[in-house]
Amino acid sequence: MPAPRRKRRRPDVAVLRVGHRLGRDPRLTTHLALAARALGASRLYLHPPDPDLAERIAAVARRWGGSFEVTGVSSWKPVVAAHRGGVVHLTMYGEPLTRVLPRLRQVTRLLAVVGGAKVPPALFGAADFNVAIGAQPHSEVAALAVFLDRILEAPAPSMFRGAEQRIVPQRQGKKVVPVSKRKVR
Ligand code: SAM
Repeated sequence: MPAPRRKRRRPDVAVLRVGHRLGRDPRLTTHLALAARALGASRLYLHPPDPDLAERIAAVARRWGGSFEVTGVSSWKPVVAAHRGGVVHLTMYGEPLTRVLPRLRQVTRLLAVVGGAKVPPALFGAADFNVAIGAQPHSEVAALAVFLDRILEAPAPSMFRGAEQRIVPQRQGKKVVPVSKRKVR
């Protein structure tokens, strides 16, 4: 009888956003942080730092739970250099995700790096994997969302530990209820 297949342990995925433009990108980078948190990433390193944005995400986490946080960094290079695990640069010029996935699945800690309007060329060499989500230009939010969905291979969490409130899915309308502290996952 074949041995039962062991369930794959989900990797820890941190995100590094390079080239955030203060004053121009707050809405886009806020969406990137919200998508990262909601789809299962553990944290976001933000270059350069944006304390207002970090506080907005902290406020979301206080209400909706979890330990996701935004850490501002003045240079992206030390974050990449210090990462113990695989560094995955999401870029339309990279190898297709489906080709790289079997190799990525061997790695337990991943740092997913997304760029902004201009991507430093050094990032291509610093990454262990340059990965494309389709060979067409689109957006860092879309690229990260697809990447997290594929690498974490699980439905996005419906509730995080410590949430004050949760959504009860409805066919129509909205229902949000307070969370009793014993019911967190
Ligand atoms: N001109 C930029 C460049 O040199 O790559 C594209 C910038 S794009 C607006 C912003 C970010 O979205 C990119 O740095 C990359 O992380 C992500 N991105 C956009 N399209 C992608 C794709 N097809 N696959 C993977 N990532 C993508």
